[in-house]
Amino acid sequence: MRRITVLRLSHRVGRDERVTTHVGLTARAFGASGIVISGDEDRGVIESLTRVTELWGGPFEVRYVRDWRGYLRSAKAAGAYVVHLTMYGLPLPEVLEELRRVLAEREMVVVVGSSKVPREVYEVADANVSIGNQPHSEVAALAVFLDRLLDGLVFRISFSDAKVRVVPDPRRKVVLRRRETALAEDPSPSDDKLL
Ligand code: SAM
Repeated sequence: MRRITVLRLSHRVGRDERVTTHVGLTARAFGASGIVISGDEDRGVIESLTRVTELWGGPFEVRYVRDWRGYLRSAKAAGAYVVHLTMYGLPLPEVLEELRRVLAEREMVVVVGSSKVPREVYEVADANVSIGNQPHSEVAALAVFLDRLLDGLVFRISFSDAKVRVVPDPRRKVVLRRRETALAEDPSPSDDKLL
C-alpha cells in the first residue's frame, strides 16, 4: 500500500508559516502522499506547497481541515493506522518492523504537533512514537521517521510530472527544465538545460 498522510496540528498564522511549510516540503520530499493542515486556515501555506508540487512534481495532496478530530475519526474508520510523533512515545527502533508491516497493508496518518498537543491525540493514536526522548522539532522528527520507515526513499524518489529536476553536481547548480516550462517558473539561477 505505502500511502502516508501527514497531519499537522494547531497551525498558527503569524507564527508557524515557515515550520508548517517545511513540514509539508519534508513530507513530500521524503515520500509521503500528502499533508493535511489543521489549526488556523492559511491560504498562503497551502498555495506555496501547491506551487512547489506543480513545479517539482507530485502527486502530493495539500489541504486544510478545520476539524482534525473528525478527520482522524473518518481516517480510522476507513482503515488508516495513526502514528503520533512525540518525545514521550516508544522509540522508533522498537516499533519500526511492526510499522513497516502495517504500512504494507494500511494507509498511515502521521500526526505532528505545533504547540501543546491535546491528550486525546495520544489516546486516538495507534502508536505514539519518539525520535529520541528529547524535545526537538516536528520537521526533524518527521524527516527521521520517514527516512527510517521508507528506508532512505528520499535518496531515490523521483516525480514523473516534474517540470524541473536537479542534476547533482559537485560544484554548480544544474537544473533540467521540461521544454514547456515558462521561464518565470525557473526556481533559481543555474546552469540549466532543457530536458
Ligand atoms: N510542547 C509540545 C507538547 O508538549 O506536545 C510539543 C512541541 S514540539 C516543538 C512540536 C512537535 O514536534 C511535537 O508535537 C512532535 O510531533 C514533534 N517532536 C518534537 N520532539 C520530538 C521527539 N523527540 N520525538 C518525536 N516527535 C517530536
